[in-house]
Amino acid sequence: MGAPSCAFDAEVVVAGGGLAGAALALALRRQGTSVVVVDKADFPREKPCGEGLLPHGVALLQGLGLGDVVDACGGRPFRGILYHCHGVVAAGDFAHGATGRGLRRRLLDESVRARAASAGATLVRARVDRASVDPDGATLMLDDGRALRGRVLVGADGPRSTVRHSLGLDGGAPRRARFALRRHYRLRPGAALPDRVEVHVGHHHELYVTPVAAADGSGDAVIGVAALCERAVFAAQGGRPDERLDALVAACAPLAARLQGAVPDGPALSCGPLRVRARDVAQGRALLIGDAAGYVDAITGEGMSLALQTARLAVDAVGAILGDGDVDAAAARYRRARAVVFRDHAVLTQGLVELARRPFFARRVIARLGREPALFSRLLQVNDGQLPLTAFGLGNLARLALGASPR
Ligand SMILES: Cc1cc2nc3c(=O)[nH]c(=O)nc-3n(C[C@H](O)[C@H](O)[C@H](O)COP(=O)(O)OP(=O)(O)OC[C@H]3O[C@@H](n4cnc5c(N)ncnc54)[C@H](O)[C@@H]3O)c2cc1C
Repeated sequence: MGAPSCAFDAEVVVAGGGLAGAALALALRRQGTSVVVVDKADFPREKPCGEGLLPHGVALLQGLGLGDVVDACGGRPFRGILYHCHGVVAAGDFAHGATGRGLRRRLLDESVRARAASAGATLVRARVDRASVDPDGATLMLDDGRALRGRVLVGADGPRSTVRHSLGLDGGAPRRARFALRRHYRLRPGAALPDRVEVHVGHHHELYVTPVAAADGSGDAVIGVAALCERAVFAAQGGRPDERLDALVAACAPLAARLQGAVPDGPALSCGPLRVRARDVAQGRALLIGDAAGYVDAITGEGMSLALQTARLAVDAVGAILGDGDVDAAAARYRRARAVVFRDHAVLTQGLVELARRPFFARRVIARLGREPALFSRLLQVNDGQLPLTAFGLGNLARLALGASPR
């Protein structure tokens, strides 16, 4: 690796080796494509995430031949979602007995990276400072002065993507930003893990509880607690992330009770704004995948599945570019395919964010879901990308929108 030249360091250079980048690298290596993945983090690393991988995401991992990774990371099964919303409770299960998995990102991302490396991907620890594309290839400029050149560039560098920014693909800032906090807790001995992801809807924030594995691989019962908050709530808590999260947990009686005698399993992390827009997800020989391509909100817990899906779509696009060299056609196909998987997700997620901002309506909708578990289950199928929004049914949509009076 030296100064930019016509020589390529690999057919594909990937900025960001989190879930999207590592999954892409693994899939490309399986096809015999040479790939270099650059990430600024020291792995294993923590990542602020609710860590609930929905059933479709679990299937995508299995499709990548990573089913054993789910078990090796101590993936904790959950069968649905349990809402507590201003005194109203609703439990919904995934259709056909499917389960999601609570997967500690520290373990999951490291495992997928290790698989990519053993398949022959080159992993580089460096920060990407700049990216550029030209008609023949693309270049990543690294913070150590090196330049990496590939025939195709993939930006998998998360929500604050340097690749997206360098290529002028940043979209506008969100009108109302939401922020997040996340921490793990070891529960007191004998405490049971939740079998659904629990969501406690508060005023201008929600708290999510996901069962996960302990960072040291012990069998201890550990939960991840993530808070998604409006800017005002996030700022009002002040102090360090752990103090902010403590304040929100203390105000949530059922969660505070669950955490009696629990000890933190690592520090609290924060991040935001959550909403990220991209003007485009492809530019010549460059593609954006995962959060780098855009993100709505963590309220629907689908980001990891989307990261895996967009990585899979990018494998096809890379293959087409390296194969027949028709860059524009491959980019157009990628744009269309990615829009198809993203559109329903974006509508549903933004709808839920708006609902969470309106407690009166949120209570009514949760009350309806509580009375109609089959409707809840169908909604979870849409959320999981297994059913198009159009197939949800107008009658179902109307019943949901009207809600029910909380008892
Ligand atoms: C609070 C919260 C809760 C969430 N809960 C869930 C959930 O329950 N279920 C779910 O499925 N999804 C959830 N998500 C979404 C999920 O975390 C993301 O969608 C997913 O991590 C996207 O993967 P990625 O690989 O695109 O990005 P990331 O996982 O962010 O990986 C990007 C990588 O790029 C690297 N990088 C960034 N910039 C550079 C640079 N300049 N140079 C080199 N490397 C760089 C980073 O170090 C990182 O390793 C949640 C997100 C948040 C914020």
